[in-house]
Amino acid sequence: MNEIEKTNLSFGDREAEKKKEKKYNPCSICGRPIWHSMAGRYSRVCGQVCDLSRTFLGGGRPLEEVWELLRKHKLSEWESMEAWWRDMGHSHFPGAFLLRRDRGAKHCKENSFWAPYPQAKRVHTELAGEKKKRRILPNGRTVGDCCEPYGINIYLFQRMCGGIAKKYGLTMNQVMEEFGMAPPPSPDWKDSISVHHQGQEYSIRRISKESGISFLSLYWRWMKGMFLIDDDIAHRLARTRSRRDARARQIERWNADYKPFNEG
Ligand SMILES: [Zn+2]
Repeated sequence: MNEIEKTNLSFGDREAEKKKEKKYNPCSICGRPIWHSMAGRYSRVCGQVCDLSRTFLGGGRPLEEVWELLRKHKLSEWESMEAWWRDMGHSHFPGAFLLRRDRGAKHCKENSFWAPYPQAKRVHTELAGEKKKRRILPNGRTVGDCCEPYGINIYLFQRMCGGIAKKYGLTMNQVMEEFGMAPPPSPDWKDSISVHHQGQEYSIRRISKESGISFLSLYWRWMKGMFLIDDDIAHRLARTRSRRDARARQIERWNADYKPFNEG
């Protein structure tokens, strides 16, 4: 037996052993096998739809279970499953989620409706955003209060604050609190805050666009009384400008050289 055959044999054996050992965990909602790498460690549900079924009614869950949850958590105004199904059955389709128009009120004929996965996902994201906005910072204000005057959504705000925190060695809560302490002077702060540089007027929006630095980071510098355009940013601005000019010159040259082939 040569070396190649030996290796083939050993690898073959090993794979056979693995196959024998490999077990799968069933999804806790629909019972289908979970095949992804984290199966059995953290995740107990098979995929997107079942993931949402865990927080919402419907989706991958059998209808009996949906009714059982409605009944157990006292979420519905219907007395029995038959009554529920009489009102909601005609509009049901496979994989539908049962949502409420008003989340303060119970499920009833007027308040609940069946929605497909994308809509349920959107509601889920909105609710997560609401939860994030309501988070209270150490100084007693909520993240939503700090974020609101800037006119940015909560996800972008948190991301930019994370970047600033990393750059200046602070925690994200500290950064958010400081943004909350000094709200922007006007609703159009990105355009109204501007600086002179080499005989030109630059707004925050323009510096951000040309230098590739986030506008919240630039506002932070302005708020702290730092130079808005330091050597690094000046270099970036010059680089962008020279590239843009080179491009414009190139286009001019092309236009000058261009001759329609049917003329002359
Ligand atoms: Zn599942």
